Amino acid sequence: MNTPASYRSPWMDADLDLYRETVHRFVAEEIAPHQQRFARQQHVDRAVWNKAGALGLLLADIPEEYGGAGGSFAHVAVLMEELARVGDYGFGVSVHQIAANYILHQGTEEQRRRCLPRMARGEWIGAIAMTEPNAGSDLQAIRTRATLEGSHYRIDGSKIFISNGSMADLIVVVTKTDPAAGSKGVSLLLLETRDAAGFSVGRVLDKLGQHAADTSELFFDGVRVPAANLLGGHEGQGFYHLMHELPYERTLCAVSAIASTEAALRMTLEHTRERRAFGKTLLELQNTRFKLAEIKTQATVGRRFVDDCIARVVAGTMDADTAAMAKLWTTETLGRAVDDCLQLFGGYGYMTEYPIARLYADARVQRIYGGASEIMKEIVARSLERNGA
Ligand SMILES: Cc1cc2nc3c(=O)[nH]c(=O)nc-3n(C[C@H](O)[C@H](O)[C@H](O)COP(=O)(O)OP(=O)(O)OC[C@H]3O[C@@H](n4cnc5c(N)ncnc54)[C@H](O)[C@@H]3O)c2cc1C
Repeated sequence: MNTPASYRSPWMDADLDLYRETVHRFVAEEIAPHQQRFARQQHVDRAVWNKAGALGLLLADIPEEYGGAGGSFAHVAVLMEELARVGDYGFGVSVHQIAANYILHQGTEEQRRRCLPRMARGEWIGAIAMTEPNAGSDLQAIRTRATLEGSHYRIDGSKIFISNGSMADLIVVVTKTDPAAGSKGVSLLLLETRDAAGFSVGRVLDKLGQHAADTSELFFDGVRVPAANLLGGHEGQGFYHLMHELPYERTLCAVSAIASTEAALRMTLEHTRERRAFGKTLLELQNTRFKLAEIKTQATVGRRFVDDCIARVVAGTMDADTAAMAKLWTTETLGRAVDDCLQLFGGYGYMTEYPIARLYADARVQRIYGGASEIMKEIVARSLERNGA
């Protein structure tokens, strides 16, 4: 996405321009016209996943040998930007993509071959289940237990707030295989949900925003998972896997947040150019001009930083501290920007038929999920202790 007319993200190229056209068309035809219906039914149609799969839009950065499109993180960024442009936070492709990356980087060859092609086709929808009613930020406190019983693990416990939860065919479940071993007792299991006895989905949760996302409660009551579904094949590696993959997830959050800030600015500029008060357009009032100038500045600074982050993920050089800073800054900036933009819409900004109102509600959780802002600050502060300024 290009912010000023003259600016083009340095990671864009001719191939990505074509890809963006395909994504843009897909989003305009398959997502944007159906957003209200998706919100009412609290999920995006499965057919949309299948269509995205057929177009090669799912698992864009997964190698072709595993059914992916053989692109890079830049392709994933294009998809996230195009969804943000139409204010979509229902189509859970980011979580799907994150789950696939766990399998690509941390899984066994057999796990990659079994799961990734199905996920690429949209035949299997992916999710990742970490959070529990009593453990969110403090992941070490999770209680969901996986016990090896012969050739299977038995999972008991529950999860909450899981994106794609009610639709998921494959869930990367964070479990404790050795509760006495602290972070070394955490293991990730691949649960294939179809016909999984003892697995159930609770409520699709009513949220402040992101209504089309099927954020759900999950329950595991003696669910049997083949031992071969232990991610990577070794117990106790779960925390290592999480630490390795969270920067990818946090960069995705930053990509969405900056694209949403740009979208908020665009729609507010359009509105304030048209709307009149006291014989002038709102844009002619100094407060409006200054607010929009601030947001434009923040969007421009953020865009350069996020572009650098995207390039670093593509190059495989992204680190956890930078990803934490990117998520922290972009989501906090989005929160302030969308609040200021809504104010400039006046009463219309409070009406849910206006995209700015929906974005206001959708944006709030971005400072909470994927690691809350306070946790991002902890990560950055620890890096200061470790490495100095
Ligand atoms: C819409 C939505 C979708 C989600 N999707 C998923 C998903 O797909 N998979 C998944 O596993 N989870 C998901 N989550 C869960 C999300 O990641 C957690 O809500 C988040 O990590 C915070 O955990 P918590 O809700 O338990 O809050 P808590 O951990 O109880 O935190 C409450 C507050 O205390 C602060 N706090 C906690 N620890 C510290 C500290 N050390 N220092 C300072 N402040 C601290 C937090 O920052 C926060 O402000 C989702 C949540 C939502 C709302």
